[in-house]
Amino acid sequence: MNTERTYAQFLDEQDDLLGFRDEFHLPYGTIYFDGNSLGLLSKQAADSLEKLLDSWKRHAIDGWTEDVEPWFYLSEKLGKMTAPLVGARMEEVIVTGSTTTNLHQLVSSFYKPHGKKTKILADALNFPSDIYALKSQLKLKGYDPNEHLIQVQSSDGNTLNTADIIKAMTDDVALIMLPGVLYRSGQILDMKTLTREAHKRGIVIGFDLCHSIGSIPHHLSDWGVDFAFWCNYKHLNGGPGCVAGLYVNKKHFGNEPGLAGWFSSSKETQFDMSHTLTAAEDAGAYQIGTPHVLSAAPLLGSLKVFQEAGIDRVRNKSLQLTKYMMELIEVELKDYQFTIANPKDDAVRGGHIYLEHTEAARICKALKADKVIPDFRTPNGIRLAPVALYNTFEEVWETVQILKTIMQEERYKKYENKRGVIA
Ligand SMILES: *Cc1c(COP(=O)(O)O)cnc(C)c1O
Repeated sequence: MNTERTYAQFLDEQDDLLGFRDEFHLPYGTIYFDGNSLGLLSKQAADSLEKLLDSWKRHAIDGWTEDVEPWFYLSEKLGKMTAPLVGARMEEVIVTGSTTTNLHQLVSSFYKPHGKKTKILADALNFPSDIYALKSQLKLKGYDPNEHLIQVQSSDGNTLNTADIIKAMTDDVALIMLPGVLYRSGQILDMKTLTREAHKRGIVIGFDLCHSIGSIPHHLSDWGVDFAFWCNYKHLNGGPGCVAGLYVNKKHFGNEPGLAGWFSSSKETQFDMSHTLTAAEDAGAYQIGTPHVLSAAPLLGSLKVFQEAGIDRVRNKSLQLTKYMMELIEVELKDYQFTIANPKDDAVRGGHIYLEHTEAARICKALKADKVIPDFRTPNGIRLAPVALYNTFEEVWETVQILKTIMQEERYKKYENKRGVIA
């Protein structure tokens, strides 16, 4: 292991994605390793938002149809642009809603308890919003979540075992909802195998791709996944509160959405204003109301950046960055009781590093004081996401050096070991 700064610089020189760094607005004087919580603004995204504002100025109501980017078809267009990132057919993806509302939409459409199949299978490590939503979906159908929500447990507190999940696919399960990449440990679940095993047992399966989209390639259509959803403000850099996305496998087209609205309509009949819905014959049917056009506009630019870079190159560099970071941590921080709690294997390691330490909350504060932006995950986790499109190997090197100094000089002791309101 070469621990010299010059080696990091050498790796940056070899990096064919390095040019993309200039496409982004980097927070001045900081090393930003939080792109898995809120991705940075690209110049192309800023430009597409400004163009949209300009079209509102110039066209007013006619912007729905007359703009070069007619707002009426924007959700569909962005869906097509997103499709390659999830490995779906273009008509299987739509940009709409938020992660949590899309979960509600899809579970209300796909969860059809019948006979003894009444339960929903999830996991014990997922993000709280997903679990709250699943419990409320059960209650809406008249079921007690304490009995009808099964959460597969983790044996080490950070990762899930494929065999344990498959074992939990019992006869009484109607629907399975799992993350593609776990938000804390960054573990990639084996979506292909899980889908195959669910289908063998007649169970519908969907994934939350919040932490996997824009970070790893997916093949949802080939795997036969029934549905999926994600946010666009993490690795996809669509901006705070950006409109989210969803995928529905073509084999389910033609069904009515669980939560209908006039934007569920086929485009041709929407303005007939009939009280009988003719739902769109593609993923567009899962839209509800008028799209949040201004919050979707940055995606036009940021998805273009992904088209130019290509998700395979992004993944390849991401793996190199996280591997390099783990190797440096193992050498440089060996005396300071950090545990690398993300999976180390390339096949199951997502786009961020997850360190555990009993002083994690205040180590994060010390990092921020030194202009490195991590995020803290309660109770004892530090997430560091070196993002392929805008972070460098030298930033990884510097961060590990800064962490080492913080530990050597016990600088974290200046702070309370407690999280802030947002952490
Ligand atoms: C980020 C994230 C969310 C956020 O949901 P919103 O509706 O966008 O607030 C939900 N689930 C997971 C797994 C996430 O990582």
